[in-house]
Amino acid sequence: MDLLEQMRSHGHERIAFHQDPETGLKAIIAVHSTRLGNALGGTRRWAYASTNEAAMDVLRLSEGMTYKAAAADLPMGGAKSVIVLESPGQQPTEAEGRAMGRFVETFGGAYIAAEDVGVSPQFCDWMALETKHIMGGENVSTGGDPSPWTALGVFNSMKACLEASGDGDFSGLTIGIQGCGATGFKLAKLCREAGAAVLVSDVHVPSMKRCVEELGCMAVGNDGNLFHEELDVLAPCALGGVLGPDSIPTLRCRIICGTANNQLVDPVRDGRALKDRGICYAPDFVANAGGLIRLAGLYLGMTEAQIDAKVAGIEQTTHEVLKEALAAPSTAEAAIGFAKRRIDAVAAPASA
Ligand code: NAD
Repeated sequence: MDLLEQMRSHGHERIAFHQDPETGLKAIIAVHSTRLGNALGGTRRWAYASTNEAAMDVLRLSEGMTYKAAAADLPMGGAKSVIVLESPGQQPTEAEGRAMGRFVETFGGAYIAAEDVGVSPQFCDWMALETKHIMGGENVSTGGDPSPWTALGVFNSMKACLEASGDGDFSGLTIGIQGCGATGFKLAKLCREAGAAVLVSDVHVPSMKRCVEELGCMAVGNDGNLFHEELDVLAPCALGGVLGPDSIPTLRCRIICGTANNQLVDPVRDGRALKDRGICYAPDFVANAGGLIRLAGLYLGMTEAQIDAKVAGIEQTTHEVLKEALAAPSTAEAAIGFAKRRIDAVAAPASA
């Protein structure tokens, strides 16, 4: 689809492309909405097949951030950025981070960058050498790695899904986790501590082994097999786009609740397909908001106690969305409606 038409149909405010001749950095920043405030969203480093694919990814991700912030009741908009790598596994450098920081600075604070796939707290600090509009670093900027809060938020959302289906606790349950990285490992730990059996899969074998050795999880060779396992809960914690016509018909789980962004290939079609199959899908941007709550909370000056309460509140938000979904075509559409209502209510002029 034409890029401007895509922006118009999804309501994006702005997309900016940048190339830095000195470092070779190629990056895109997309701001979907600033109606609720400045927009905080991670920077993803990825080797895309084409510029168009990168642009579509950043548009999709930034829209998700708008809904994530609104559903979490944060006074923030939605934005995201991507750095287009020449090849997979390209090592990050300080020069690259600084160049990206200068690009972020051109937004004057309307966009605040942070971690996403391929970006570490160190990289955030490199970006922060050039702009103060960065969260997620440890020395130059603040916040650090948000993954513990993301994992905890998903665990809270999972509790709500289980309660809605009549399960009181985790003992006796089998949970499958795809991706044992920063968030997947911590989610596996929480599930094991709560008494569940946990199956894990990861294309990076040492990450999977760590879950087996340190947490007593069971390894399932690769992700294809995990999606065919009989599970109480499937937790996609790797990349997005894993729930579509190829995977949904063969799933054998009751609940889907994971950390990955944009899990549905097509939110309308695939959200409805999951409902038709009787699978309870915790909308990703509701469940995985913990990391955003943490970094946005610090940016907004919230206390640790206020941040913790908001991450705990993901359980209640999931309950509310699941309840609304009873009268909606899917949980995915119910969640988007829930977020849009909050934006309209908060952003409406006081006298309207
Ligand atoms: P990560 O890079 O630390 O971990 C991802 C893991 O998935 C890696 O171990 C990788 O080897 C594995 N993986 C990749 N492809 C796979 C496949 N096909 N099958 C099985 N495993 C595969 O990333 P993360 O920080 O844990 O984030 C995971 C997802 O959660 C991403 O979609 C990210 O955007 C989303 N997310 C993360 C946060 C956060 O706080 N880190 C917040 C919100 C959303």
